[in-house]
Amino acid sequence: MKLLKKIMHASLTCRQVEEFLMDYLEKRLGLWTTLQFHVHIFMCPNCTKYIQEYKNTIALEKQIFQNPDEEAIGNVPDDILQAIISVKRQ
Ligand SMILES: [Zn+2]
Repeated sequence: MKLLKKIMHASLTCRQVEEFLMDYLEKRLGLWTTLQFHVHIFMCPNCTKYIQEYKNTIALEKQIFQNPDEEAIGNVPDDILQAIISVKRQ
């Protein structure tokens, strides 16, 4: 599987995926980087999971900001708030 090896070599590292994730979601990556990004996600279950969780967090965050009354925020479980805070710190 020479081709696969070549593709794997061209793909990003998990660290780069983390770094590029924001740009990827906002479609600011170039075509080649986007391709490398997809290749890595396709082959790496860890990053697939990471991105899924990241997207969930963003969706949740948007929900909170769309309903900025204190009651809505008070209803968010602590562990989800912690997840949001830890994502922001990265
Ligand atoms: Zn990865």
